[in-house]
Amino acid sequence: MISEAEARAKILEAVRPLPPRKMSIWQALDHFAAEDYFARLPLPMFDNSAMDGYAVIASDCKKVARLRVIGEQPAGVDRKLRVSNGKAIRIFTGAPMPAGADAVVMQEDVTREGDEIVINVDVEVDQFLRKRGCDLGEGQKILGKGDRIVATKLALLASQGFAQVSVGGEVRAAIISTGDELAKPGEKIQPGQIYDSNSVLLQSLLKRSGAVAASAGNCSDDSDSLRAAMQSAAKNEILIVSGGVSVGEHDLVQSTLRDLGAEIDIWRVAIKPGKPFLFGQLGRCFVFGLPGNPVSAFVTFLQFVRPAILRMMGANNLDLPKIPAKLTVDLINNGERAHYIRGKCENGNFAPIGRQESHALFGLSQSNALLRVETGESLTAGETVDVQIWE
Ligand code: AMP
Ligand code: MG
Repeated sequence: MISEAEARAKILEAVRPLPPRKMSIWQALDHFAAEDYFARLPLPMFDNSAMDGYAVIASDCKKVARLRVIGEQPAGVDRKLRVSNGKAIRIFTGAPMPAGADAVVMQEDVTREGDEIVINVDVEVDQFLRKRGCDLGEGQKILGKGDRIVATKLALLASQGFAQVSVGGEVRAAIISTGDELAKPGEKIQPGQIYDSNSVLLQSLLKRSGAVAASAGNCSDDSDSLRAAMQSAAKNEILIVSGGVSVGEHDLVQSTLRDLGAEIDIWRVAIKPGKPFLFGQLGRCFVFGLPGNPVSAFVTFLQFVRPAILRMMGANNLDLPKIPAKLTVDLINNGERAHYIRGKCENGNFAPIGRQESHALFGLSQSNALLRVETGESLTAGETVDVQIWE
């Protein structure tokens, strides 16, 4: 049995970022930038008006000053107009500032009389004027290699005229849920059977992690079926097998993988729940064997599979978001494995929720955060702890 940190390091050493590809900005949400991007245009691109109003020379505009309106500057075209003393130009939001003007007066602050305006307020230099480059300068970094591409970053890329962005490779994953006891939701169930809940759990976690769930199938506990299922699934970047990785006579995942010539790099990790976790390689496919108990499958997915997927997709940050929270109870870990407590993080508090056993799916379904308690660690109610938020 190896430590969780060793297991994670081994996995992250084995998996490598996949070759990048160009993607339309319309598709690139939640992918990871495969290179640094720099501003090729300043923002704003040219001095422009922040209001519908009149472009003026501020020093002309004492209250009740009268100015002659000598032209109109709409947005979308630069009419190359010029303002001189005693003159104003009708202007609209986003329109280029005429030469000579150094301020905009809102239309609400003037009285229009024919081709003249009367200024009703004091006007300051630069008011309602958006200066070229005041937000973003040419050459400034706008997106870093490995950054997640969120909506606002896509908007920024678009503002620079980028129609495409280079992103990390696609991770395709197959799921095989093993167990003679499994029935598919929607099917009629026989005595002794249970419904397969891991397949949809893992498919959803894959999607959330940015991978493509290429296939999900059930497999009974017999080596021939398992062999065939694994061989066909190994064309993907990763294969997740749920169940069958323990030590019982019906736990055939490890032996079948070995028969197929797979290398097993990890088996059994000091993590609770999730001890009988397996990691190996079948040809070019990385195989993650997760324990069948739903909470174990969940925890090992988040701690081992998710970071591997993110690394393959070219992400910088492989960790779940962590936030500080006030623990509501005393907790002590006298065991020999790090314990992931499922709990609810709400209003700055973290409270364990549901039964803390690896089969307890209902408790898991009520939680939104995990607290890792190290072996030998004791925590006291009221203490501030960092919890991993997964939803
Ligand atoms: P195993 O890891 O195969 O020994 O399974 C451990 C426990 O998890 C058993 O109680 C199984 O019935 C349960 N289990 C295995 N696979 C699934 C699944 N796909 N959905 C829900 N429970 C499962
Ligand atoms: Mg089983």
